[in-house]
Amino acid sequence: MDDLLSRTRAAVWHPCTQMKQLEAAPPLAIARGEGAWLIDTDGRRYLDAISSWWVNLFGHCNPRINAAITDQLGKIEHVMLAGATHAPVVELSERLAKLTGLGHAFYGSDGASATEIALKMSAHFWRNSGRPEKNGFISLKNGYHGETVGALSVTDIPLFKSTYAPLLRHTVQVPTPDARLAEPGESAKAYALRCADALEAHLAEHAATIAAFIVEPLVQGAAGMAMYHPAYLTRVRELCNRYGVHLIADEIAVGFGRTGTMFACEQAPPLPLAGSDFNPVRPDFICLSKGITGGYLALSAVLTTDDIYAAFYGTATARGFLHSHSYTGNPLACRAALAVLDIFEHDNVIAANRVRAIEFTRILSEVAAHTRVHHFRSRGMIWAFDVADASPGFVSRFHQAMLAQGVFIRPIGNTVYAMPPYVTSADDMRGLADAVLVCLDNPEI
Ligand SMILES: *Cc1c(COP(=O)(O)O)cnc(C)c1O
Repeated sequence: MDDLLSRTRAAVWHPCTQMKQLEAAPPLAIARGEGAWLIDTDGRRYLDAISSWWVNLFGHCNPRINAAITDQLGKIEHVMLAGATHAPVVELSERLAKLTGLGHAFYGSDGASATEIALKMSAHFWRNSGRPEKNGFISLKNGYHGETVGALSVTDIPLFKSTYAPLLRHTVQVPTPDARLAEPGESAKAYALRCADALEAHLAEHAATIAAFIVEPLVQGAAGMAMYHPAYLTRVRELCNRYGVHLIADEIAVGFGRTGTMFACEQAPPLPLAGSDFNPVRPDFICLSKGITGGYLALSAVLTTDDIYAAFYGTATARGFLHSHSYTGNPLACRAALAVLDIFEHDNVIAANRVRAIEFTRILSEVAAHTRVHHFRSRGMIWAFDVADASPGFVSRFHQAMLAQGVFIRPIGNTVYAMPPYVTSADDMRGLADAVLVCLDNPEI
């Protein structure tokens, strides 16, 4: 294990890490995984309480996903998707279209590449429609959409963004409906609608030069699991319709059941148009990644409407969307994603999670009531709270103290959150709650 740690320090540049800090806080050397648990090279077990950065859904080494990938390995591991196609990518596109109501799927590798694709497609749509001046973007304050240069332009996390400011395109951030920011006595809904008014004020003036508004539906993950009222999404859909601006739903983190529905947008109350009960708020683009393969392989997808797709269709090559990544539509990743969708269907996962979420919230009730805990909140399979008196160094002290108790958790600022795989048991969750209470009871942490 020590050997692996010195070699990783010498040869691997770890993500989102000041490498010098690895001297004091070495990374876990993981040998294998088993359901919701990670097992290190010394045989110590850690509950993967944040699903390996929000990607894992059905546990590590899931037999059904393993079998699908293994089966695909014996057929074709990869073929380029320009000039060729294959059953896994066709079937996945059909099934995602049914789930999202968006008819065409374009593939990338990571979440950030999905953001890039959606931004480029939106601006290109307006160009193809004779409105090339509509190429600006709006996003939410504290929003996160990835860290490649285009995606970082619509991200608003200073720690990730400031250093690269000279490289980035100017975009505008509007107030976040994060319910923690409501005035005393103001409901989460009233506050969300007040934030939507601020968006409207901006659109009223600038819509002529704006291509799209990109948003993380219901939960701003990297902002510290900031949760907001779903009425915001309905209002935003109306505003985007009225002002002729695309709505991009970045469901990279919240998709695939994390917030309690398959996609977070489904929780937006129906638009007060149409007179139909079933009128879900549908974005113009949806970005999917992370859980899409159950946390197995790098895959992302951007789905969009038939109308947007049609604007690219024609005889002129440059009218087409000429974007590409080498591994676009990788068959192994698509098979993993199909296995994930099968599990959702066969195990009725969304309904089962509804029951699980109620139980986990009850298990965490003592945490919620702790005097150091503020803004305890949950949505679907995500739980979070803020530690009011967190002092500098809290993140690493809390992280290390949880590791010592067999739980892998990494706070964001003073926010502690759990986003466990859906195979986490009530006993696992009780262990997590007990470990959190030990940390909270220790004034040194
Ligand atoms: C993680 C994330 C991304 C970026 O995905 P990567 O795969 O890390 O590039 C984009 N948007 C949201 C909301 C995310 O949580």
